[in-house]
Amino acid sequence: MCSARRAAVAITAYLRGEPQRMIARLLEAERPAFFDIAALPQSDAERAEMPVLDGDQRNASFGREVHPGSFGAETAEGPFSEVETGFDEATALREAARCMQCSCQAAGSCSLQKHALANGAGTIQFIGTRKTARFAPLVNRGFFQMDREKCIRCAKCVRICDEVQHRLVYRIGEDGYPALVSGTDDYRDTECNSCGQCVSACPTGALKDLSHTGQRRSSERSKTTTVCGYCGVGCALTLETENERVVGVSNSFVSEANHGNLCVKGRFGMGFINHPDRLTQPLIRRGGKHAPLEEASWEEAIAFVAQGLLKVKAQHGPQAIAGLTSARTTNEDNYVFQKFIRCAVGTNNIDHCASLCHQASVVALGQAVGSGAPSSSMRDITQADAFLIAGSNTTETHPVASGAVLKAKYEHGARIVVIDPRRIEMVDHADVWLRPRTGTNVALLNGLAQQIIEEGLADQAFIESRTENFEALRDNLKKYTPEFVSSVTGVPPERIRQAARIYGQAARGMILWGMGITQHISGVDGAFGLINLALLTGHVGRPGAGFIPLRGQNNVQGASDMLGFKNALPGYQRIDDPEVRSKFEALWGVPLPTHPALTVVEMEEAASQGDIKAMFVLGENPMGSSPDITEVERGLRRLDLLVVQEIFMSETAKLADVVLPVTSFAEKDGTFTNTERRVQLLRPAIAPVGQARRDWQVICDIATAMGYPMAYPDSAAIMEEIAQAVPQYAGIRHQRLEQEGIMWPCPDTEHPGTRVLYEKDFPRGRGRFTVTRYSACGEASCDEYPLLMSTGRMLQHYHTGTMTRRADGLDDLVPHGRVEIHPEDARRHGIADGDRVRLSTRRGSIEVPARVSGRSPEGEVFVPFHFAEASANRLTSSRFDPVSKTPGFKKSAARIERVS
Ligand code: SF4
Repeated sequence: MCSARRAAVAITAYLRGEPQRMIARLLEAERPAFFDIAALPQSDAERAEMPVLDGDQRNASFGREVHPGSFGAETAEGPFSEVETGFDEATALREAARCMQCSCQAAGSCSLQKHALANGAGTIQFIGTRKTARFAPLVNRGFFQMDREKCIRCAKCVRICDEVQHRLVYRIGEDGYPALVSGTDDYRDTECNSCGQCVSACPTGALKDLSHTGQRRSSERSKTTTVCGYCGVGCALTLETENERVVGVSNSFVSEANHGNLCVKGRFGMGFINHPDRLTQPLIRRGGKHAPLEEASWEEAIAFVAQGLLKVKAQHGPQAIAGLTSARTTNEDNYVFQKFIRCAVGTNNIDHCASLCHQASVVALGQAVGSGAPSSSMRDITQADAFLIAGSNTTETHPVASGAVLKAKYEHGARIVVIDPRRIEMVDHADVWLRPRTGTNVALLNGLAQQIIEEGLADQAFIESRTENFEALRDNLKKYTPEFVSSVTGVPPERIRQAARIYGQAARGMILWGMGITQHISGVDGAFGLINLALLTGHVGRPGAGFIPLRGQNNVQGASDMLGFKNALPGYQRIDDPEVRSKFEALWGVPLPTHPALTVVEMEEAASQGDIKAMFVLGENPMGSSPDITEVERGLRRLDLLVVQEIFMSETAKLADVVLPVTSFAEKDGTFTNTERRVQLLRPAIAPVGQARRDWQVICDIATAMGYPMAYPDSAAIMEEIAQAVPQYAGIRHQRLEQEGIMWPCPDTEHPGTRVLYEKDFPRGRGRFTVTRYSACGEASCDEYPLLMSTGRMLQHYHTGTMTRRADGLDDLVPHGRVEIHPEDARRHGIADGDRVRLSTRRGSIEVPARVSGRSPEGEVFVPFHFAEASANRLTSSRFDPVSKTPGFKKSAARIERVS
């Protein structure tokens, strides 16, 4: 029995005088730990029914040995030993006097208090004296603090950090209280990533969430369960509100996507919702391009947009107009927006951020298996026994998904191969790290496939029954021996063999990949290389085996589902299929345009060349996210009309002729579809701020003003129409999502959704092996630009920073950009850690502090793209993969110099 229960039992039993009844109730309240997917209850009622685990059983539920010394000798005790021995009266009194302070912020969520109240002990005697003041508080910036005066030594904070987060932050001190492993009082001296899981596990107020800004106790606040608005994991969370303000975040256990886990952004990054910078009123430039933006009524703004678009359409035709929508808005918003662009404007020129990130994956998967969908789920990640993690800095970009990987590793010994030029955090957990030269993915993946065949690890039965084009693949791979591949990639031959064995010999192999694969000029071939590996080994179509291209933003999957791509309508249905066209024309009541769409980069180039005259940007910020933003700016400034629908005055909104204020995810209903195809319901926690309106409502009004009437009573009605239009969503309705999300395909309203795809066949019938050949592409270093620059994300920030940089704690943690540089390169250029440097490419320059570290390989630098004042995309090139049109963000020739 843990010391939490010991203290609780002792105190409450003392106060109430009925120890056995108290003990029984407290034991019933224990429940297994986070991420125990098989055991996790789905509702409060189920949780109350959970069997009680003793210490050993609980450790077994984590599936791994407790670190020696982590939890002290008490964890080895049986469940009832201290019940029998108990605390003596003096000990109980001492504990009660020290930790019972019921005016603390945990009031209402403190388990100790809850059990005392439930058992009639009351809290009248819970008066903390604080006479001892043995401990200084441990403060983690603006996120949380630990006050060990209230600690009951349950060690839950130590365990969740150690066993779920796999971080060295806490230890149990000799006095039995938690302390930092560093021996200091500063979390920055540890591996803490400020996820706050320890706060959520603390049963008392010892760990206090400092980001909660409310005046009331937690139990007195309104609580709304919704879906995190940041990354593609799609974590369920609870927004706590007071007076129409979000004042805190707490865990929600309703989704299998996260099982109550949250990362630093989800738990502490919601300060942007009620930030004073929120746009609250429409703005228009009444006096033309050089006039200031002025406040306007909604009526005036909608008329301004409608007339402006109609004018461009009349003068230049609908092809001169383009729409760019957002993976941060809901499926319903995206569906309505693409319908507006196609039906009211009359063009297919509609795109979103997938063209900048995972379109290469969608294209490759579409050609190889017939669908761009991820084949598996978060649950499958926890069940895999080998991982290829390629070009994905998972602990930073998808933190809760990385927890699922580590659960598989530390609970049942799953093995991990990491493919990444940077020494990312996952390397510390990897069995094999392959560090290819940037831009050589195709050669490396061919090398792995060659070795799998060479060593007899290919699944011949699967190849024969489920695939085609194997002979062509095998012939092409002959030259990709480990030695040849090593000469191209720099990866030692033996490592290639080891990695091939780990994945090839696994019973359940899982491939996770990110933009380190796709954001190359050969991005589609990189994705083909990974799919070939899955088909070769038969690691697809079974629980625990498959592939997931980890989607970056919260609703990239859903936005892709709603928009299609280039020549596709919603649900990826071909625009040139007569049956598809007549279905949509009947549903929408107008003839549809026929030409393929421009992608975002093509739109920007067309704007720059004067071919696109008007753009409608909904929730995107191309002035931060698109490559070569100097050129992007030139194009946007040339437009006759730029409409931006946003929650903040982004860099793109500053250039707009009309700015339309809309609701954030916290003020919305509708759905997001996460990276595992799970469609989940959002619920509005607060009323819209100021005059902000829902995206789809604004779009409907503009469409109507343009002569194409659009109206829906609510977002649920939009989903009804989506269900008619998109076969994968045919059975999805909002009311079905009230309890839990549904993974598409869901063909009818009785269907439970589909967790594992391709169990029997692929959408195209047989999976097709694709022959890919390595050739050097992208910019190469040279005398003038001797380094290679790649860009990417950081844990603490998101996309172009419009939200996270308005979340105080996150911005305080990482307030500015940086360039990561190898110590040897730093020495060569006379740069010390923290020096201000100028980083230049053929497109431009930025000035940022240098971070000297061995994370990037020698000869390469890394720049996060979240910071407008030093935007990495001032430096990147708009050259793109010829098939997916995804730009090569990961490889630009660069030079660096110290700024004196
Ligand atoms: Fe939000 Fe992603 Fe963090 Fe989950 S992992 S809390 S979805 S940012």
